Amino acid sequence: MEEIKKTYKCKYCGETFDTPLELARHVRTKHKRAKAKEKIDAKRAAPTEEITKAIEAIGILKGLQQVSPHLNEGEKKMLADISKRMETLVMYIQRGK
Ligand SMILES: [Zn+2]
Repeated sequence: MEEIKKTYKCKYCGETFDTPLELARHVRTKHKRAKAKEKIDAKRAAPTEEITKAIEAIGILKGLQQVSPHLNEGEKKMLADISKRMETLVMYIQRGK
């Protein structure tokens, strides 16, 4: 009867190991950079949708200022301040990408 041995396969290069410990050691030594890059990529990809929504929200705020004749000066100023703050934040986030 053939012995079926459980192996642990490296997801980066496909090399197989007998124990999870050996695999972990291999990944740590051979693929440290790949793992670090994965983390950075995940960080970069995540906020794109949120930024798009924020830009849309800024557009809505600006539209409100223009189409609302009932707003008093204080309210207009508040809307302007909020959209300015959001714009600054979005610019800051996009620059960091
Ligand atoms: Zn590997």
